[in-house]
Amino acid sequence: MVKRKYLAKWIDERQFAYRCPYCKKTHKHGNDTNYKKNRVENRNSHCEIVKGNIDIVINSKTHRRLDPKAMKLYYDYLFKCKIKEFYKEQQVALNKTIKDIENKAIDNMYTHFEKLIKDNLKEINT
Ligand SMILES: [Zn+2]
Repeated sequence: MVKRKYLAKWIDERQFAYRCPYCKKTHKHGNDTNYKKNRVENRNSHCEIVKGNIDIVINSKTHRRLDPKAMKLYYDYLFKCKIKEFYKEQQVALNKTIKDIENKAIDNMYTHFEKLIKDNLKEINT
């Protein structure tokens, strides 16, 4: 059986919650105090209708219900993630440029040596 998966509607410093499609209640679960990171949390269902192990997805759509201080920390975290992402993209682009330059240099070297060999052969034959 496929494990049930729910999107967390909100998260705060202590809990996160999702709206249950079966009993229509909002089920709350304890947070491990990380309200910044998007992730999947494994929990036991609190639902009276559907029991068992569930996954609760915390993603960018999950509303951060935070006090101003925690909200600032969350925005700092998002900013750092963006910087890291940007740096990674730049690194990939730079590595591609370096590889292109290396390949071009190797091509030029082959062309140069081919010509050199041809010229030498011509000289030997004449
Ligand atoms: Zn329920």
